[in-house]
Amino acid sequence: MNFATRAIHVGQEAEPVTGATIVPIFQTSTYTQDGIGNHKGYEYARTGNPTRTALESCLASLENAKHGLCFASGLAATNTVMNLLSAGDHVICADDVYGGTYRLFELVWKRYGLTFSWVDMTNPDNVAKAAKPNTKMIWMETPTNPLLNIVDISAVAKIGKQHKLITVVDNTFASPYLQQPLDMGADVVVHSTTKYLGGHSDVVGGATLTSNDDLYTRLKYHQNAVGAVPGPHDCWLVLRGIKTLAVRMEAHCANAAKVAAWLQSNPAVSRVIYPGLPNHKQHALAKRQMRAFGGMVSFELKGGEAAARAVAGKTKLFSLAESLGGVESLIGHPATMTHASMPVAEREARGLNGGLLRLSVGIEDADDLIADLTCAFESSKSRSTTALTA
Ligand code: PLP
Repeated sequence: MNFATRAIHVGQEAEPVTGATIVPIFQTSTYTQDGIGNHKGYEYARTGNPTRTALESCLASLENAKHGLCFASGLAATNTVMNLLSAGDHVICADDVYGGTYRLFELVWKRYGLTFSWVDMTNPDNVAKAAKPNTKMIWMETPTNPLLNIVDISAVAKIGKQHKLITVVDNTFASPYLQQPLDMGADVVVHSTTKYLGGHSDVVGGATLTSNDDLYTRLKYHQNAVGAVPGPHDCWLVLRGIKTLAVRMEAHCANAAKVAAWLQSNPAVSRVIYPGLPNHKQHALAKRQMRAFGGMVSFELKGGEAAARAVAGKTKLFSLAESLGGVESLIGHPATMTHASMPVAEREARGLNGGLLRLSVGIEDADDLIADLTCAFESSKSRSTTALTA
């Protein structure tokens, strides 16, 4: 079966008791047993729930994985992957990951004895150079949030194999529709299902996918032992969102390409970052590794931070909001929003300055989105002119 079919059918057979076509929300915390130890595969809902099982099976299929596990948020999924490690272990991490991942690693896991090397993974040689005798894991994110750098998953996974490391890819920005990291040699994929998988900005969730039986057993143990599981209603919302993932991603990518091209031709804009633009420094790699280039576009205005702040408050269709990947367009100011927890010096060293704006381009009409940005650019300009002349 091909991707769009699996998204609608895998794990989602008609419910055997009633014939319900759509997987029901099994809103129960426990399951009645016929006799001691005689149950139907479910005992307690932290350990397992049929709505969650349906989502886990579907997600595993979409990532070409043997096993899927779902969590209460993307960060709960990330945190559970870190539970695979022990005090004294070292992790090599891409240096411009999502700010919450940075915070979890630097401010939480460091206190428990893990150490991290933050490297520019656009050059895989940097990964090999950072490996130490106690290195246990490589953490990739590609495209990265918000600078949309691309990591060569196959090249880094190869280095991981040479050093016997667990390689993890946060695939949130691409979604499994655009790239499947396990097929490129990675061991574990992590998702914030809050984003493209859910797709409607109405649910928070996370997932891990792997084909490695040992890693799955350990992750499943921690899913239950730590307990950061999603409720059945949240699983159901993500499952419903996934049914349209293929068509939504096509629309996100097409709209983002149009918005990026418009930004690039706009004289007020000093820099546009979109992997689909031929001038993106890793356009060729993105083309090789991804089916299309995604729905995220970052840009800077010639007026720097003041101009970015002015525009961010002026759009009407692009809501000024955290998050990404929903059908509706969002605009964000990473320095004060998604990456506020990163110290300014660290942030700026990664090229993430206060002038950067990030768009999550939705699936509205592209011309309307461009008109919205045009109005916001114009009204932010007239506001600064008024301020200057007042
Ligand atoms: N990974 C990436 C790339 C993200 O952008 C986010 C959130 O924005 C997360 C992980 C964390 O996901 P959640 O907010 O569902 O915990």
